[in-house]
Amino acid sequence: MILEKYSIGIGDRFGMEGAAQVRALQKAARDGVSLVPVWNKSNREHSIIGTNPNDTLLAAMAAVKATSWTKPFYLDADHIGLATLDKFIEPCNFFTIDVADVIGRPADQSAADAFLNAMHQFRGTLVIPGMHKPITVDDVLLNSIARKYLLAVTEAGKVYRRIIAQKPEGSFVAEMSLDEADVPQSPAKLFFILAAVAREGIPLQTIAPKFTGDFLKGIDYVGDTARFETEFRDHLAVVGRAISEFGLPASLKLSVHTGSDKFSLYPLIRRAILDFDAGLHLKTAGTTWLEEVIGLAGAGGDALLLAKEVYAIALTRYDELCKPYATVVRIDRSQLPDPADVQRWTSAQFVEALRHDRACPCYNIHFRQFMHVSFRIAAEMSERYLKMLREHRSTIEHNVTTNLYDRHLKPLFVG
Ligand SMILES: [Zn+2]
Repeated sequence: MILEKYSIGIGDRFGMEGAAQVRALQKAARDGVSLVPVWNKSNREHSIIGTNPNDTLLAAMAAVKATSWTKPFYLDADHIGLATLDKFIEPCNFFTIDVADVIGRPADQSAADAFLNAMHQFRGTLVIPGMHKPITVDDVLLNSIARKYLLAVTEAGKVYRRIIAQKPEGSFVAEMSLDEADVPQSPAKLFFILAAVAREGIPLQTIAPKFTGDFLKGIDYVGDTARFETEFRDHLAVVGRAISEFGLPASLKLSVHTGSDKFSLYPLIRRAILDFDAGLHLKTAGTTWLEEVIGLAGAGGDALLLAKEVYAIALTRYDELCKPYATVVRIDRSQLPDPADVQRWTSAQFVEALRHDRACPCYNIHFRQFMHVSFRIAAEMSERYLKMLREHRSTIEHNVTTNLYDRHLKPLFVG
């Protein structure tokens, strides 16, 4: 199973917006851009909402049917490890193997020595076409890979082999994610991490490094965009070289997690993937839940009241809701609106505070991030929330499609 050049991680908390998201991909297809959908829902989200991967598969299949989607689609076992893998194996055909927790734990000495011996040939100055400068390969660099990343790759190998014990090799896509690590991996490190992946026998098709800067949920990139651009282009060069050097799959590409709403990066990512003729996987699932809330708020009446209620209840449970997302949100609590004020808000005020429109003076990044993590409250409302989603189908679906196509796919892939 070879993953297409451009793929987009989609999905939504309650499994109702699949068709609206596929329609965004169909709009891109009419512009001549071929993208395939990868449905994401992490173990974290399944456990908060009380769903399982089979529910996501059913939602994806229903969306594919409703939109007459004929190209492939994927279901991602998102951020799984040995402890969480099993229930994903049957329904999924894409596995994001998360080894961030193992980073920093040293491999055993014999494994480290074997790796260092094999990498000895690269010592000196390594010139990779497309990189802004050559890599200096010395003992410091190689030892740090062996010390910090080798065991993580070995762990990914264990996960991969557990999957192929139950699913034919080649019948799924394997990704390795490092994005929830504490520090970014430099392009030089990425090169040797990919060497270790090849030695481990994992036919990796996507890799999600932790990039420089902050990728926070639902809001734009926080960091130095010029520095990101240099690093991203170097990563592309490294991936290209790793394919030929280590015999990794030709479809291997970068995966950008927490990729929604990174509007200031899309033009430079686009430039880079075109220059390098590289593929891209971008995950966007979280942004769609916010479009549901925006749709409800915009509908007014009971739907607006429900959106306000989600916020008011969520505020009373602030710590609990933020905790699972501690590393991927940065909320200044003092900037959150007073729930009494929110009670008086009109539809337009709620929508303007929440919608990611950087030009709007009422847009509040703290409110947006906080609502992003508040879906547990809607999940607890259960049928009352779902009923409202069904009643306002056309408004919400319009928002979902427009958000994904106009704000994400168009700047990134269509241009
Ligand atoms: Zn991730």
